[in-house]
Amino acid sequence: MKKNQKPGKGTCSVWAGEEKYLMQNATQVPVVHSVSFGYKDIDEWQQVALGKQKGHIYSRNTNPTVEVFENKICALENAQAATSASTGMGIISSTLFALLLPGQKVVSVKDTYGGTNKIFTEFLPRINVEVKLCDTTDHEAIEAEIVKGCDLLYLETPTNPTIKILDLERLSKAGKKQGAVVVVDNTFATPINQQPLALGADLVLHSATKYLGGHADALGGVVCGDNELIKQIYHYREINGATLDPMSAYLLLRGMKTLALRVERQNQNALEIAQHLDSHPEIEKVFYPGLKSHEGHKIAKKQMQGFGGMLSFRLKKDSFESVGIVLSNMKYAHSAANLGAVETIVGPPATTSHVECTREERQAMGIPEGLIRYSTGIEDINDLIDDLDNALSKL
Ligand SMILES: *Cc1c(COP(=O)(O)O)cnc(C)c1O
Repeated sequence: MKKNQKPGKGTCSVWAGEEKYLMQNATQVPVVHSVSFGYKDIDEWQQVALGKQKGHIYSRNTNPTVEVFENKICALENAQAATSASTGMGIISSTLFALLLPGQKVVSVKDTYGGTNKIFTEFLPRINVEVKLCDTTDHEAIEAEIVKGCDLLYLETPTNPTIKILDLERLSKAGKKQGAVVVVDNTFATPINQQPLALGADLVLHSATKYLGGHADALGGVVCGDNELIKQIYHYREINGATLDPMSAYLLLRGMKTLALRVERQNQNALEIAQHLDSHPEIEKVFYPGLKSHEGHKIAKKQMQGFGGMLSFRLKKDSFESVGIVLSNMKYAHSAANLGAVETIVGPPATTSHVECTREERQAMGIPEGLIRYSTGIEDINDLIDDLDNALSKL
């Protein structure tokens, strides 16, 4: 082994960011609930308050437990800096509102996360920021839109719920050439499977609520990138106040210790399930980038180290009613809106990612009524396959 070699993802998941928090010989990161941090020496207080000396002043701004969480994800994404927020949407809105000014233009795709899409269609236009949403798989159209002017390019891959793939290297290059800040939502892939910064993006962000935490018991969001951009986003968030709570930061940190293990297992399980369903008589189509037949397979193979735990499939009996029959007959899956947890979670777009759309709007977006989103858990693969087969046999 080479000396000074960078530790791997598994090692980073467990150790990164924690070294200096071994307070009074504790081996685990303390949850610092203190709202404020006191100073007897007012000169020192002032130095810390002005950011000239390391330390904490007030937990809306910074907090020791939250800082360890930020340091760990920073190491995993191989970034200079990170800042966090109370939810994924908290960090997405902080990023967009911190960086965009009236008169500027965002280029993105139609298949971003539902909440992000609402910011694009409802809130950014209010402050006179123009947003162009392109067809997700049409790379030429996205590039053509970027060339017409772009201050911020916002990408997400794989997407929700039909698991489309964007070429991050190609599009980041196009964005950078136009002088845009390139932002990537890496929630579905996780840093174990995909590193957007290495592919040319400026910022990578996560709903930590999903895979990073992994246990569906804490909300959080985080963005990583270079010092200057992160400073701007941090400042917006500290003033607007969507701060990550220390207890949630701790739960997310503890979850992240097993991130590499969980994601490797979920990659394996999802691929086997996708292959199994691909030849199942009740299934019309499986959407999973690990399948050779998937439209984005080649790009996914190039830019991802694993194809992820998210897949979706369309029933031959293409109706909301059939989806209900399948879901209610599954033993080892929560029917719920979240994803990325240790348990398998299933749900239709009509109650999860696209709940705000009408049936017609979903149809126009190419989202069939008989689609089921499947977030693969870490259960034994044979049990998951038996459970699916049994539920599908009730149709
Ligand atoms: C869930 C999710 C979000 C929003 O995160 P919250 O923690 O729910 O606010 C953003 N992007 C993606 C891809 C998500 O799955």
